[in-house]
Order: sequence, then C-alpha cells, then structure tokens
Amino acid sequence: MDYDTYGSNAVELAIDLANVDRADPTWVHTFLVAHDEWWTEGTALELTSAEDEAVGQTSALVREVALAGSQPEVMTRLNALLALASPRPYATDHDGELHLHYARPDAGAVEQLTTTVAMGLSQVVVQHGWQRLGVCSAEGCGNVYVDTSRNASRRYCSNTCSSRSTVAAYRARQRT
Ligand SMILES: [Zn+2]
Ligand SMILES: [Zn+2]
Repeated sequence: MDYDTYGSNAVELAIDLANVDRADPTWVHTFLVAHDEWWTEGTALELTSAEDEAVGQTSALVREVALAGSQPEVMTRLNALLALASPRPYATDHDGELHLHYARPDAGAVEQLTTTVAMGLSQVVVQHGWQRLGVCSAEGCGNVYVDTSRNASRRYCSNTCSSRSTVAAYRARQRT
C-alpha cells in the first residue's frame, strides 16, 4: 500500500473541492480551469447558475463526508454523494502516465467533476478507512484533508498550518 500515490489521484481533487473558497462568485469556473487535467478536452467550463449550484452541493457533500464522526455517518453521506455520480471509468495516459478517469468522456463538466470526486473519495474510504479523512487542527482553519502518512498521524491540512501551529504552541510555552 503506497500512500504517496494518493497525491496524483481523484481524492486530491475532492479535497480541493471541499476546501475551495466559495465566497468568490466565479469560484466554480476558477476551480474547473485550475483542475482541467480531469476534464475531456473541449468540455465547456462556463456553467449556468444552476450548474454552479450543483457543484456547490457536491463541494458541501465532500466536506460532510470528511467531517463525519462514525462509520454509519460516513456511509450515509458517502452514499448521498455517490447517488449523484454516473461512473463510466476508462484508462488514459493523456499526461504520460496510465491512470483512470471515472466519468463518461462526453459528459458535461458537472457530471465529470461530481463523478470523479465521488469515486476518488469512496475508494480511499473503502480501501484505507474513513479515519483517513480529517479536519485541520490549526486554529481558524477548518480545511479537510486526506491523511496519506504511513502511520495515520496527520493533524493539519498543509505544511503552512502545521508550522503555524508549532510556532503558536512554542510561543504559548514561552509565555508560561
Ligand atoms: Zn487524467
Ligand atoms: Zn489548515
């Protein structure tokens, strides 16, 4: 089991989607453009407001799966997300490395995105355990993450949050 391979796969897309800043009204388009390796060439990335809303719903569902505190809760939320997916996987080496894409190549952006994150997230949960999903312990962060460390010891969403918290703890010790 090689946790390092998580980095390049669909679960990272799911985590990015769950952590995206949804305050910017153009966030869906920005997100789709930033992750264009997942979409079939020529997929329209200018969405209607209803489609934007569907992407927002997917983002919220991924976050709920990551925040779930028990296996029954994870299953309920994961199944709600999977119900929105229309998987039809295919193998591709478009970037030089053989990997799977999960949605019909001719599906619209919403279907490609929702299907990809639902499949990526559920594979990690089923293969490695729902405890691998967590929420950042840094004060004021709230980002979710997938723990790819060998001993499942991760507590922060990023190195930035990790070092920020280490510095804060160090200062707190200095004060006392
Ligand atoms: Zn790809
Ligand atoms: Zn964080």
